[in-house]
Amino acid sequence: MTKVFWEELFPHEFKERLIERPVVYVPIGLCEPHGQISALGMDLIRARFICEQTARQSGGIVAPTVGYHVHESGNSARWLEQKVGETNACMTSIPAYVFFKYLLYQLRAFYNSGFQTAILLSGHGGSHSRDLKRVAQIFAEYVQMNVWYGVDQNELLKGSKFKGDHAGKNEISALMYARPDLVDHSLVSLEDVPGSGGKLALHPTAGEASWEHGQEAMNYEISYLGRLVDEMQPRNSGLETWNRLPLLTYEQVEQIWDRLGEEQWESLQPRPDEETTSATSRWKSSETSKFY
Ligand SMILES: [Zn+2]
Repeated sequence: MTKVFWEELFPHEFKERLIERPVVYVPIGLCEPHGQISALGMDLIRARFICEQTARQSGGIVAPTVGYHVHESGNSARWLEQKVGETNACMTSIPAYVFFKYLLYQLRAFYNSGFQTAILLSGHGGSHSRDLKRVAQIFAEYVQMNVWYGVDQNELLKGSKFKGDHAGKNEISALMYARPDLVDHSLVSLEDVPGSGGKLALHPTAGEASWEHGQEAMNYEISYLGRLVDEMQPRNSGLETWNRLPLLTYEQVEQIWDRLGEEQWESLQPRPDEETTSATSRWKSSETSKFY
């Protein structure tokens, strides 16, 4: 089978794929609970699956998956208090500003490796999504590269009959299709076991999930992303940037970083009109963060 993952390619294979279509896909997600019935890596596994299938059909290379993401801060703190509660969320979240800066340096690596288009596909949504689109836009303007950021269940379902959710019919179906071994509906009984964490953010529609729904929705997303790639990046266009010079320097990335410091970021605090997290909640301490 065709290899599409960066880490599996030999140098000559990387070069061939890049010249054929200089697009890098970056699956992004984090570990967090989606009920007792599904694996914690739900968001990143889905994003990786969509990137893999799109690269097989449309060309390009899939970058190593980013498994740490923004959560806990801004209105996500209140969301966690309400949906997950006062329990260990088994979650791989990092502060927004750390993610922003790490993302800039990843984009630098993609630019210096010769890519002309970066598709940042997140399986995890929230108020940080708007911030990350802005970060992508600022980087893209600075270096003249196409950078797209989107959430699979939002952007890639546009125009379809499907609607994204958290641990509901759509999301659970998608994982059932991508990795049937990572969903087990019988585990819903654990919700009643003391100390289990209870519902762990499971949506009431999760019981309606099916492999067939997942197949249809995921295939819609994959073909949507394929069309997007066709619009953003013509085929056989990578030769001119294969040995790209000059390289983007650390100093230039730090200039972009300084530029980010001038913006207002939604993910750092709740919106003024929103209810905040209870003072006694375990999620209170991360609700507001600075931009360092
Ligand atoms: Zn999710």
